[in-house]
Amino acid sequence: MSLELSKKGLLVKPSSTLAITAKAKELRAKGLDVVGFGAGEPDFNTPDNINATAIKAIQDGFTKYTAAAGTPELRKAISDKFKTVNHLNYEPDQVIVSNGGKHALTNIFEAILNPGDEVIIPTPFWLSYPEIVKLEDGVPVFVRCDASQNYKITPEQLAAACTEKTKAFVLNSPNNPTGMVYSKAELEALAKVIVEKDIYVISDEIYEYLTYDGEQMVSIGSLNDEILAHTITCNGMAKGYAMTGWRIGYTGAPKAVAKVMASIQSHQTSNPNSVAQMASLEAITGPQESVGIMRQEFDRRRLYMFDRISKMPHVSTICPRGAFYVFVDISKALELSYNGKKIETCAEFARILIEEYLTAVIPCADFGFADHIRLSYAISIEQIEKGLNRIEEFLNKLQ
Ligand code: GLU
Repeated sequence: MSLELSKKGLLVKPSSTLAITAKAKELRAKGLDVVGFGAGEPDFNTPDNINATAIKAIQDGFTKYTAAAGTPELRKAISDKFKTVNHLNYEPDQVIVSNGGKHALTNIFEAILNPGDEVIIPTPFWLSYPEIVKLEDGVPVFVRCDASQNYKITPEQLAAACTEKTKAFVLNSPNNPTGMVYSKAELEALAKVIVEKDIYVISDEIYEYLTYDGEQMVSIGSLNDEILAHTITCNGMAKGYAMTGWRIGYTGAPKAVAKVMASIQSHQTSNPNSVAQMASLEAITGPQESVGIMRQEFDRRRLYMFDRISKMPHVSTICPRGAFYVFVDISKALELSYNGKKIETCAEFARILIEEYLTAVIPCADFGFADHIRLSYAISIEQIEKGLNRIEEFLNKLQ
Protein backbone atom coordinates (compact mmCIF):
# COMPACT_ATOMS: atom_id res chain seq x y z
CA MET A 1 0.00 0.00 0.00
CA SER A 2 1.34 3.45 -0.80
CA LEU A 3 -1.50 5.61 0.49
CA GLU A 4 -0.15 8.76 2.08
CA LEU A 5 -0.89 9.25 5.77
CA SER A 6 -1.83 12.58 7.34
CA LYS A 7 1.15 14.98 7.23
CA LYS A 8 -0.04 16.53 10.48
CA GLY A 9 -0.35 13.18 12.21
CA LEU A 10 3.07 12.07 11.03
CA LEU A 11 4.65 15.22 12.49
CA VAL A 12 3.48 14.43 16.01
CA LYS A 13 6.05 12.89 18.34
CA PRO A 14 4.72 10.20 20.68
CA SER A 15 4.67 11.27 24.33
CA SER A 16 8.01 10.29 25.85
CA THR A 17 6.71 10.62 29.42
CA LEU A 18 4.17 7.92 28.68
CA ALA A 19 6.68 5.82 26.67
CA ILE A 20 9.28 5.84 29.46
CA THR A 21 6.67 5.06 32.06
CA ALA A 22 5.42 2.16 29.94
CA LYS A 23 8.99 0.87 29.59
CA ALA A 24 9.49 0.98 33.37
CA LYS A 25 6.22 -0.93 33.86
CA GLU A 26 7.24 -3.50 31.27
CA LEU A 27 10.60 -4.12 32.97
CA ARG A 28 8.87 -4.40 36.32
CA ALA A 29 6.45 -6.97 34.87
CA LYS A 30 9.52 -9.00 33.89
CA GLY A 31 10.50 -9.08 37.56
CA LEU A 32 13.13 -6.30 37.48
CA ASP A 33 13.28 -3.95 40.46
CA VAL A 34 12.82 -0.69 38.53
CA VAL A 35 12.38 2.66 40.28
CA GLY A 36 10.17 4.95 38.21
CA PHE A 37 10.72 8.71 38.44
CA GLY A 38 8.86 8.92 35.12
CA ALA A 39 5.26 10.03 34.67
CA GLY A 40 3.72 12.46 37.07
CA GLU A 41 1.10 10.11 38.39
CA PRO A 42 0.20 10.12 42.10
CA ASP A 43 0.95 6.74 43.68
CA PHE A 44 -2.05 7.12 46.00
CA ASN A 45 -5.35 5.38 45.37
CA THR A 46 -8.33 7.51 44.47
CA PRO A 47 -9.99 8.40 47.81
CA ASP A 48 -12.67 5.94 49.01
CA ASN A 49 -15.57 8.41 48.97
CA ILE A 50 -14.93 9.07 45.27
CA ASN A 51 -14.68 5.37 44.41
CA ALA A 52 -17.85 4.59 46.39
CA THR A 53 -19.75 7.29 44.50
CA ALA A 54 -18.66 5.83 41.18
CA ILE A 55 -19.71 2.31 42.21
CA LYS A 56 -23.10 3.62 43.26
CA ALA A 57 -23.42 5.50 39.96
CA ILE A 58 -22.93 2.25 38.07
CA GLN A 59 -25.38 0.40 40.30
CA ASP A 60 -27.93 3.20 39.83
CA GLY A 61 -27.59 2.89 36.06
CA PHE A 62 -25.87 6.24 35.55
CA THR A 63 -24.23 4.71 32.50
CA LYS A 64 -25.98 6.50 29.64
CA TYR A 65 -25.00 9.50 27.54
CA THR A 66 -24.86 12.76 29.42
CA ALA A 67 -24.98 16.31 28.03
CA ALA A 68 -21.97 16.78 25.71
CA ALA A 69 -20.30 19.50 27.78
CA GLY A 70 -20.86 17.62 31.05
CA THR A 71 -23.79 17.11 33.42
CA PRO A 72 -25.49 20.31 34.62
CA GLU A 73 -24.68 19.28 38.23
CA LEU A 74 -20.97 18.93 37.56
CA ARG A 75 -20.75 22.13 35.49
CA LYS A 76 -22.49 24.00 38.30
CA ALA A 77 -20.16 22.45 40.92
CA ILE A 78 -17.11 23.41 38.86
CA SER A 79 -18.46 26.93 38.36
CA ASP A 80 -18.94 27.19 42.15
CA LYS A 81 -15.43 25.83 42.75
CA PHE A 82 -13.96 28.32 40.25
CA LYS A 83 -15.69 31.12 42.15
CA THR A 84 -14.91 30.09 45.71
CA VAL A 85 -11.47 28.48 45.37
CA ASN A 86 -9.97 30.32 42.39
CA HIS A 87 -11.96 33.62 42.45
CA LEU A 88 -12.76 33.09 38.79
CA ASN A 89 -16.18 34.21 37.62
CA TYR A 90 -17.18 31.51 35.18
CA GLU A 91 -20.91 30.70 35.01
CA PRO A 92 -21.95 27.04 34.47
CA ASP A 93 -22.44 27.67 30.73
CA GLN A 94 -18.79 28.77 30.57
CA VAL A 95 -17.63 25.41 31.93
CA ILE A 96 -16.82 22.46 29.66
CA VAL A 97 -16.05 19.02 31.10
CA SER A 98 -13.75 16.92 28.92
CA ASN A 99 -12.01 13.55 28.89
CA GLY A 100 -8.90 14.66 30.77
CA GLY A 101 -6.65 17.69 30.64
CA LYS A 102 -5.18 16.84 27.25
CA HIS A 103 -8.65 16.67 25.75
CA ALA A 104 -9.56 19.99 27.35
CA LEU A 105 -6.44 21.58 25.79
CA THR A 106 -7.19 20.00 22.42
CA ASN A 107 -10.68 21.46 22.43
CA ILE A 108 -9.45 24.86 23.56
CA PHE A 109 -6.94 25.11 20.70
CA GLU A 110 -9.45 23.71 18.24
CA ALA A 111 -11.89 26.40 19.30
CA ILE A 112 -9.50 29.37 19.03
CA LEU A 113 -6.85 28.59 16.39
CA ASN A 114 -6.86 29.14 12.64
CA PRO A 115 -4.04 27.78 10.45
CA GLY A 116 -0.82 29.67 11.12
CA ASP A 117 -1.92 31.26 14.41
CA GLU A 118 0.96 31.43 16.85
CA VAL A 119 0.91 30.17 20.42
CA ILE A 120 3.66 31.34 22.78
CA ILE A 121 5.02 28.56 24.97
CA PRO A 122 7.56 29.40 27.70
CA THR A 123 10.40 26.88 27.60
CA PRO A 124 10.87 24.46 29.36
CA PHE A 125 7.31 23.25 28.83
CA TRP A 126 5.24 20.14 29.32
CA LEU A 127 5.89 18.20 26.17
CA SER A 128 2.29 17.85 25.00
CA TYR A 129 1.58 21.59 24.57
CA PRO A 130 3.42 22.07 21.26
CA GLU A 131 2.21 18.77 19.85
CA ILE A 132 -1.43 19.64 20.60
CA VAL A 133 -0.96 23.13 19.13
CA LYS A 134 0.47 21.62 15.93
CA LEU A 135 -2.39 19.12 15.72
CA GLU A 136 -4.80 22.05 15.84
CA ASP A 137 -3.00 23.88 13.00
CA GLY A 138 -1.22 26.36 15.25
CA VAL A 139 2.44 27.29 15.32
CA PRO A 140 4.23 26.94 18.68
CA VAL A 141 6.58 29.84 19.44
CA PHE A 142 9.14 28.97 22.11
CA VAL A 143 10.59 31.47 24.55
CA ARG A 144 13.55 30.15 26.51
CA CYS A 145 13.39 30.86 30.25
CA ASP A 146 16.64 30.04 32.02
CA ALA A 147 17.44 28.88 35.54
CA SER A 148 18.60 32.43 36.35
CA GLN A 149 14.97 33.56 35.99
CA ASN A 150 13.63 30.46 37.80
CA TYR A 151 12.51 29.17 34.38
CA LYS A 152 9.67 31.73 34.37
CA ILE A 153 8.80 34.01 31.46
CA THR A 154 9.12 37.76 32.04
CA PRO A 155 6.61 40.34 30.72
CA GLU A 156 9.36 41.74 28.47
CA GLN A 157 9.97 38.32 26.93
CA LEU A 158 6.25 37.79 26.42
CA ALA A 159 5.79 41.18 24.76
CA ALA A 160 8.81 40.64 22.51
CA ALA A 161 7.49 37.25 21.35
CA CYS A 162 4.09 38.65 20.27
CA THR A 163 3.48 39.19 16.56
CA GLU A 164 0.31 40.02 14.64
CA LYS A 165 -0.21 36.25 14.36
CA THR A 166 -0.10 35.56 18.10
CA LYS A 167 -3.36 34.11 19.33
CA ALA A 168 -2.47 32.73 22.73
CA PHE A 169 0.10 32.26 25.45
CA VAL A 170 0.33 29.10 27.57
CA LEU A 171 0.86 29.61 31.28
CA ASN A 172 1.40 26.65 33.60
CA SER A 173 1.76 27.41 37.29
CA PRO A 174 2.63 25.38 39.34
CA ASN A 175 4.84 24.27 36.51
CA ASN A 176 5.60 20.94 34.93
CA PRO A 177 8.57 20.22 34.63
CA THR A 178 10.19 22.95 36.78
CA GLY A 179 8.00 23.00 39.92
CA MET A 180 8.08 26.82 39.87
CA VAL A 181 5.07 28.92 40.89
CA TYR A 182 4.32 32.42 39.56
CA SER A 183 3.66 35.06 42.20
CA LYS A 184 0.68 37.41 42.06
CA ALA A 185 2.95 40.31 41.10
CA GLU A 186 4.50 38.30 38.26
CA LEU A 187 1.05 37.37 37.00
CA GLU A 188 -0.13 40.99 37.17
CA ALA A 189 2.76 42.04 34.97
CA LEU A 190 2.06 39.26 32.46
CA ALA A 191 -1.67 40.05 32.51
CA LYS A 192 -0.96 43.64 31.43
CA VAL A 193 0.88 42.40 28.34
CA ILE A 194 -1.85 39.85 27.53
CA VAL A 195 -4.58 42.51 27.67
CA GLU A 196 -2.49 45.07 25.78
CA LYS A 197 -1.60 42.62 23.01
CA ASP A 198 -5.18 41.30 23.03
CA ILE A 199 -4.32 37.61 23.10
CA TYR A 200 -5.69 34.67 25.05
CA VAL A 201 -3.87 33.15 27.99
CA ILE A 202 -4.43 29.44 28.45
CA SER A 203 -3.86 28.96 32.17
CA ASP A 204 -3.21 25.30 32.93
CA GLU A 205 -3.86 24.99 36.66
CA ILE A 206 -3.79 21.20 36.98
CA TYR A 207 -1.28 21.31 39.89
CA GLU A 208 -3.20 23.98 41.83
CA TYR A 209 -3.41 22.02 45.10
CA LEU A 210 0.25 21.01 45.06
CA THR A 211 2.13 24.01 46.41
CA TYR A 212 4.61 24.15 49.28
CA ASP A 213 6.52 26.51 51.55
CA GLY A 214 3.38 28.62 52.02
CA GLU A 215 3.19 29.22 48.27
CA GLN A 216 -0.35 29.45 46.80
CA MET A 217 -1.45 29.26 43.22
CA VAL A 218 -3.06 32.44 41.96
CA SER A 219 -5.38 32.12 38.96
CA ILE A 220 -4.41 34.78 36.45
CA GLY A 221 -8.06 35.24 35.47
CA SER A 222 -8.90 36.27 39.03
CA LEU A 223 -6.84 39.47 38.83
CA ASN A 224 -9.45 41.66 37.11
CA ASP A 225 -12.34 41.53 34.62
CA GLU A 226 -10.19 42.57 31.68
CA ILE A 227 -7.77 39.67 32.05
CA LEU A 228 -10.64 37.27 32.79
CA ALA A 229 -12.10 38.09 29.37
CA HIS A 230 -8.78 36.92 27.87
CA THR A 231 -8.35 33.87 30.08
CA ILE A 232 -9.16 30.25 29.32
CA THR A 233 -8.53 28.24 32.47
CA CYS A 234 -8.04 24.53 32.29
CA ASN A 235 -7.74 22.05 35.08
CA GLY A 236 -8.60 18.44 35.89
CA MET A 237 -9.12 15.80 38.52
CA ALA A 238 -5.95 13.77 37.91
CA LYS A 239 -3.29 15.34 40.09
CA GLY A 240 -5.12 16.77 43.11
CA TYR A 241 -7.44 13.80 43.63
CA ALA A 242 -5.23 10.94 42.37
CA MET A 243 -7.64 10.33 39.49
CA THR A 244 -5.31 10.01 36.50
CA GLY A 245 -7.11 7.06 34.92
CA TRP A 246 -10.61 8.53 35.24
CA ARG A 247 -9.86 11.09 32.53
CA ILE A 248 -11.83 14.15 33.61
CA GLY A 249 -10.52 17.59 32.77
CA TYR A 250 -12.42 20.85 32.71
CA THR A 251 -12.24 24.34 31.25
CA GLY A 252 -13.60 27.74 32.15
CA ALA A 253 -13.70 30.08 29.17
CA PRO A 254 -15.30 33.25 27.80
CA LYS A 255 -18.84 32.40 26.67
CA ALA A 256 -18.10 32.45 22.93
CA VAL A 257 -15.14 30.08 23.34
CA ALA A 258 -17.11 27.72 25.60
CA LYS A 259 -19.92 27.58 23.05
CA VAL A 260 -17.57 26.53 20.24
CA MET A 261 -15.86 24.00 22.52
CA ALA A 262 -19.22 22.46 23.42
CA SER A 263 -20.18 22.12 19.74
CA ILE A 264 -16.83 20.53 18.88
CA GLN A 265 -17.07 18.13 21.78
CA SER A 266 -20.59 17.04 20.85
CA HIS A 267 -19.13 15.53 17.68
CA GLN A 268 -15.83 14.35 19.10
CA THR A 269 -16.87 12.33 22.13
CA SER A 270 -20.59 12.81 22.78
CA ASN A 271 -19.76 13.28 26.46
CA PRO A 272 -17.07 12.68 29.06
CA ASN A 273 -17.46 9.32 30.82
CA SER A 274 -20.70 9.43 32.86
CA VAL A 275 -19.41 7.47 35.86
CA ALA A 276 -16.19 9.49 36.03
CA GLN A 277 -18.27 12.68 35.99
CA MET A 278 -20.24 11.46 38.99
CA ALA A 279 -16.97 10.58 40.76
CA SER A 280 -15.64 14.06 39.94
CA LEU A 281 -18.75 15.69 41.38
CA GLU A 282 -18.01 13.88 44.67
CA ALA A 283 -14.32 14.83 44.44
CA ILE A 284 -15.15 18.52 44.09
CA THR A 285 -18.09 18.75 46.49
CA GLY A 286 -17.18 16.03 49.03
CA PRO A 287 -14.64 16.03 51.87
CA GLN A 288 -11.30 17.57 50.86
CA GLU A 289 -9.07 16.08 53.61
CA SER A 290 -7.37 13.59 51.29
CA VAL A 291 -6.06 16.45 49.12
CA GLY A 292 -4.20 17.89 52.09
CA ILE A 293 -2.89 14.51 53.22
CA MET A 294 -1.45 13.75 49.76
CA ARG A 295 0.00 17.26 49.49
CA GLN A 296 1.75 16.85 52.83
CA GLU A 297 3.31 13.57 51.75
CA PHE A 298 4.47 15.11 48.44
CA ASP A 299 6.02 17.94 50.42
CA ARG A 300 8.00 15.50 52.59
CA ARG A 301 9.30 13.75 49.46
CA ARG A 302 10.10 17.06 47.79
CA LEU A 303 12.33 18.19 50.64
CA TYR A 304 14.11 14.85 50.75
CA MET A 305 14.63 14.87 46.96
CA PHE A 306 15.95 18.41 46.93
CA ASP A 307 18.30 17.80 49.84
CA ARG A 308 19.75 14.64 48.28
CA ILE A 309 20.07 15.98 44.73
CA SER A 310 21.67 19.23 45.91
CA LYS A 311 24.48 17.17 47.39
CA MET A 312 25.12 15.06 44.30
CA PRO A 313 28.10 15.68 42.01
CA HIS A 314 27.81 17.12 38.46
CA VAL A 315 24.14 18.16 38.76
CA SER A 316 22.23 21.14 40.12
CA THR A 317 18.61 22.00 40.80
CA ILE A 318 16.35 24.76 42.11
CA CYS A 319 14.06 23.84 44.98
CA PRO A 320 10.59 23.24 43.51
CA ARG A 321 7.69 25.11 45.12
CA GLY A 322 4.84 23.23 43.46
CA ALA A 323 3.67 20.19 41.44
CA PHE A 324 5.67 16.97 42.04
CA TYR A 325 8.73 17.30 39.86
CA VAL A 326 12.38 18.14 40.37
CA PHE A 327 14.01 19.62 37.29
CA VAL A 328 17.69 18.74 37.27
CA ASP A 329 20.43 20.46 35.28
CA ILE A 330 22.79 17.75 34.02
CA SER A 331 24.79 19.94 31.61
CA LYS A 332 28.03 19.31 33.54
CA ALA A 333 27.46 15.55 33.58
CA LEU A 334 26.97 15.60 29.81
CA GLU A 335 30.55 16.83 29.42
CA LEU A 336 31.85 13.76 31.26
CA SER A 337 32.39 10.12 30.32
CA TYR A 338 30.92 6.90 31.60
CA ASN A 339 33.02 3.77 31.15
CA GLY A 340 35.32 5.74 28.85
CA LYS A 341 32.52 7.01 26.61
CA LYS A 342 31.18 10.58 26.57
CA ILE A 343 27.49 10.69 27.46
CA GLU A 344 26.55 13.70 25.30
CA THR A 345 22.73 13.65 25.37
CA CYS A 346 20.11 13.57 28.08
CA ALA A 347 18.49 10.63 26.27
CA GLU A 348 21.74 8.67 26.61
CA PHE A 349 21.98 9.70 30.28
CA ALA A 350 18.43 8.37 30.83
CA ARG A 351 19.11 5.22 28.80
CA ILE A 352 22.10 4.27 30.97
CA LEU A 353 20.08 4.93 34.10
CA ILE A 354 17.20 2.70 33.11
CA GLU A 355 19.23 -0.08 31.51
CA GLU A 356 22.12 -0.29 33.93
CA TYR A 357 20.70 1.19 37.12
CA LEU A 358 17.01 0.23 36.71
CA THR A 359 15.97 3.82 37.32
CA ALA A 360 13.57 5.63 34.98
CA VAL A 361 13.95 9.41 34.60
CA ILE A 362 12.59 11.76 31.95
CA PRO A 363 15.17 13.27 29.59
CA CYS A 364 13.91 16.76 28.84
CA ALA A 365 14.83 17.35 25.19
CA ASP A 366 11.11 17.00 24.42
CA PHE A 367 10.43 19.61 27.12
CA GLY A 368 12.69 22.04 25.25
CA PHE A 369 15.69 21.69 27.61
CA ALA A 370 18.11 19.10 26.26
CA ASP A 371 20.53 19.34 29.19
CA HIS A 372 18.01 18.63 31.94
CA ILE A 373 16.14 15.64 33.29
CA ARG A 374 12.91 15.54 35.26
CA LEU A 375 12.28 13.37 38.29
CA SER A 376 8.75 12.89 39.56
CA TYR A 377 8.33 12.37 43.29
CA ALA A 378 4.87 10.87 42.98
CA ILE A 379 6.34 7.60 44.27
CA SER A 380 6.95 6.32 47.81
CA ILE A 381 9.80 7.69 49.90
CA GLU A 382 11.39 4.20 49.99
CA GLN A 383 11.40 4.08 46.19
CA ILE A 384 12.76 7.62 46.05
CA GLU A 385 15.60 6.73 48.39
CA LYS A 386 16.48 3.64 46.40
CA GLY A 387 16.34 5.49 43.07
CA LEU A 388 18.42 8.42 44.31
CA ASN A 389 21.06 6.02 45.66
CA ARG A 390 21.30 4.53 42.19
CA ILE A 391 21.53 7.91 40.47
CA GLU A 392 24.24 8.97 42.91
CA GLU A 393 26.17 5.75 42.26
CA PHE A 394 25.99 6.47 38.52
CA LEU A 395 27.07 10.10 38.90
CA ASN A 396 30.01 9.04 41.06
CA LYS A 397 31.25 6.91 38.18
CA LEU A 398 31.41 9.83 35.71
CA GLN A 399 34.85 11.10 34.84
N1 GLU B 1 1.39 15.02 32.79
C1 GLU B 1 2.09 13.93 33.39
C2 GLU B 1 3.59 14.05 33.15
O1 GLU B 1 4.07 15.03 32.64
C3 GLU B 1 1.52 12.62 32.91
C4 GLU B 1 2.10 12.05 31.65
C5 GLU B 1 1.79 12.91 30.46
O2 GLU B 1 0.63 13.06 30.19
O3 GLU B 1 2.73 13.43 29.88
O4 GLU B 1 4.29 13.16 33.53
